[in-house]
Amino acid sequence: MRIRVLGCSGGIGAGARTTAMLIDNDVLIDAGTGIGDLDLEDLDTIRHVFLTHAHLDHVAGLPLLVDRVFDEDVATPLTVYAREETLAAVQAHLFNDVIWPDFGKLPTEENPMLRYRVCGPGDTVGIGHRNFHAVEVMHSVPSLGFTVQNSGGVFAVSGDTKSNETLWPVLNACDDLKVLVIEVSFPDEMASLAQDSGHYTPKSLTEDLERLRHEPEIWLTGMKPGEEQRIFRQVVTAVPDKNIQMLSRGTVLTV
Ligand SMILES: [Zn+2]
Repeated sequence: MRIRVLGCSGGIGAGARTTAMLIDNDVLIDAGTGIGDLDLEDLDTIRHVFLTHAHLDHVAGLPLLVDRVFDEDVATPLTVYAREETLAAVQAHLFNDVIWPDFGKLPTEENPMLRYRVCGPGDTVGIGHRNFHAVEVMHSVPSLGFTVQNSGGVFAVSGDTKSNETLWPVLNACDDLKVLVIEVSFPDEMASLAQDSGHYTPKSLTEDLERLRHEPEIWLTGMKPGEEQRIFRQVVTAVPDKNIQMLSRGTVLTV
């Protein structure tokens, strides 16, 4: 399994793209602005999108992606998997025939280009050789993390979350956890904003990391633009013994 990081930033600005990861060539986890850099041929092979939650930095590219693949191949639908609340938000606020056409009814209601599938905490969706498992996390809106299992091991991504009691037991149960992509949006100096908006800080993240029984590669994501170096320094100072790196646009992970 090959994971290509298309965007991993908590905002925009020169060189920054918001969250999107391409799994092999057909599955996206989140559809932030990072998908806009893909070649047309790479966009056209995407047929599955897992959304961690409905926030704009995770869904901004989805309407334009659907439009692109609609033009190319209406015979093979694009399926979006997410919690019920996330699907409802996307339908009500993006594909509402005002902001963007309702591709859930195009070209016909019986055979639409865009399909929605509820994937809630504890659900597993098999696509080819990979199993996508949804995990409850704790953000300001209903959100998911995912573990993705294939024969080489498990890749996990937290989505947006603050400290929680749900993600870590699932990760500990993955005996072959190889790579963990985990959010940490704000530096410790902004702990109160992080708590209110449902995000980790270096302090809260490293306290939770002490509960992890495995030693995967750990990649930090979702940092506010301009704060990356400060956040990274605070994390590695708190847990110097762990294998921690900073995710970048263009990073390719293999599991
Ligand atoms: Zn969010």
